[in-house]
Amino acid sequence: MAGAETVRKIDENASVQYVRGVGAQRAALYAKLGISTVGGLLRHYPRDYINLSGDLSVAAAAVGEKCAVRAFIVKKSREQRIRAKLSLSKVVVSDGENDIVVTFFNMKYTVDDLVPGEEYIFYGTVSGSVLRKEMNSPLVIKPDREGGFAKYIPLYSLTAGLSSKMIAANVNNALELMSENWRDPLPAEIRVNAGLCGSEFALRNIHQPGNESALTAARERLVFDEIFTVTLGMAMERSKNRMRAGAVIRDGDISGFGRLLPFTLTGAQQRTLGEIAEDMTRSYPMNRLVQGDVGSGKTAVAAGAIWLAHKNGYQSVLMAPTELLAEQHFKTLSILLKESDITMELLTGSVSAKEKRQIKENISSGKTQLLIGTHAVIEKDVAFERLGLVVTDEQHRFGVHQRFALASKGEAPHLLTMSATPIPRTLASALYGELEVSVIDELPKGRIPIKTYLIDSAIRERAYGFVKKHLDEGYQGYIVCPLVEKNEESGDPGMISAVEYAEELKNGTFSAYSVGLLHGKMKPADKEHIMREFAAGNVQLLVATTVIEVGIDVPNSVIMLIENAERFGLSQLHQLRGRVGRGAVQSYCVLISDAKGETAQKRLKTIAKETDGLKIAQADLALRGPGDFFGSRQHGEADGRIIEMLENERLSELARTTAEQLLREDPELCMEKHAVLRERAQKVVELVNC
Ligand code: ADP
Ligand code: MG
Repeated sequence: MAGAETVRKIDENASVQYVRGVGAQRAALYAKLGISTVGGLLRHYPRDYINLSGDLSVAAAAVGEKCAVRAFIVKKSREQRIRAKLSLSKVVVSDGENDIVVTFFNMKYTVDDLVPGEEYIFYGTVSGSVLRKEMNSPLVIKPDREGGFAKYIPLYSLTAGLSSKMIAANVNNALELMSENWRDPLPAEIRVNAGLCGSEFALRNIHQPGNESALTAARERLVFDEIFTVTLGMAMERSKNRMRAGAVIRDGDISGFGRLLPFTLTGAQQRTLGEIAEDMTRSYPMNRLVQGDVGSGKTAVAAGAIWLAHKNGYQSVLMAPTELLAEQHFKTLSILLKESDITMELLTGSVSAKEKRQIKENISSGKTQLLIGTHAVIEKDVAFERLGLVVTDEQHRFGVHQRFALASKGEAPHLLTMSATPIPRTLASALYGELEVSVIDELPKGRIPIKTYLIDSAIRERAYGFVKKHLDEGYQGYIVCPLVEKNEESGDPGMISAVEYAEELKNGTFSAYSVGLLHGKMKPADKEHIMREFAAGNVQLLVATTVIEVGIDVPNSVIMLIENAERFGLSQLHQLRGRVGRGAVQSYCVLISDAKGETAQKRLKTIAKETDGLKIAQADLALRGPGDFFGSRQHGEADGRIIEMLENERLSELARTTAEQLLREDPELCMEKHAVLRERAQKVVELVNC
């Protein structure tokens, strides 16, 4: 077939270079925005719009505000050179009733383009006075071919070298390119039933809204699509999961477990264990997330699941994010399972090669029934005799693929995930795959709630005195700082950094005490060393960054000072605070902040009076918005869109019921008319799983 022309059908997966006006150079700029395909370009939605549908008269333009004015050119002055590299041109424009003076700095080409007598729209901040309005270097919008103006001008997220105008032009060409063989992935009857506009209309109007209601309809359809696709993807994932037989647990009776424990399980722990037993005795593998506040007793619940697996002849593995946490779990589980006949071993990076070999042998022969460790437990050469349960602690510290790597070691082991970070349900399943959630919403009896105070730095000395009093009584404490070293973030001299602060305290106020330093830039071995010293009581006061956030359990530490508290997320503060209050005495958390802003004050007051992690997470979401809540933890293309789910319950519900309906008709999405949906749903699953 040499020389034959191949007619390429352009679809959304075609390279962005197929779009007229996009060459190699521009494609490289788009790559910086994460855009490589035509579909990617079309899904680069405007972040905002200039609304040109209102009153565009000079009279309506308010001084001090960003306004759009529709006016014709009355007079152009000659360009004046002010000094080297700075020139200006003045242009008088009029809407027929009033004039406005527009000044352009270094914009010779723009000014040369303006034709006297022609009409344009000028968009910028109005200065001057009511009697003599002015604008400086406004955005100039030219009329279209028919001499009219668009109602909305899209504004896009940009990268150096790209302007909103360029993107708008490329998007327009992309829409044209696609319109030749457009196909709505959503079957018409579903779309009409759900009251949604078509996908071509939606894409056109998200970029080039005809009017307000078209924009609303477009947004609804696109948000629906995101949720719908994720829901479909997850449902397909689930049905795949259900076709695999889980490790077979015949005997789901866990009543014997409670009798082994030195305490009585709380109601919430019992309920959660019941749910786990039910999951494990089903014909397909469990995938359950157990959320519970710090100290709620998640490890005891995990012990119950491990006990049940063992009772049915299966091994278990527990994976923790750090060596220290793994050791801690090993200790805790040794105590909790002391009365059982479960043999356990600890496998971490610091185990000698010889011991490692022995442990691996014990695992593959089935002599060891519970393996606890860091990700060393998922190394390729660790083979289990009969793995039935995988427990991961503090999941968000693991890549999801690590969990899947581990899951692939058994035929289809049951998965149990423990997390102290409350995540809304929809987001949890979008991030971790289809799963069930149990919430341990009750603390063991007899806990003394931590007292939290909010102070400003003027009385920091008194706070130091309070810390010393506790150290003198033989207790330990933490001081937490937002930065590791100075100058990490320029232009914020008020921020306290751990390295300098520890030095200062060691040589000053706390010179009579042993002060340790812990931060994320230290070598792992040094971190482990200092934590061990702290756990052993050899370090009295630990100056640290947020590295202590997860799981460290030193019951003798009863006081925590947090510097620049306004710099932390509320959920993060709650996690940090959970490092104290783990013993039998009253513990304290002192938040130091000089932030005076209303939101900052509201947030800090919330954390000071609220002790429920879930409520704190909700307040955090409400005050900061979901994008911020997840901070830098999540990024990538899927994010913003997944997070939209949180914001629109009506659309979520609609998407969910619609997806269920569709799957009843075509569970595997193998019908021709569902091909595009299936392809998209699979992409979502890949995104989530990698
Ligand atoms: P989490 O992992 O949820 O932060 P842990 O499982 O580490 O909490 O439990 C915290 C402490 O409480 C441990 O020392 C544990 O032995 C103890 N504990 C757990 N459940 C109970 C209970 N029902 N009654 C009393 N103490 C409990
Ligand atoms: Mg724990």
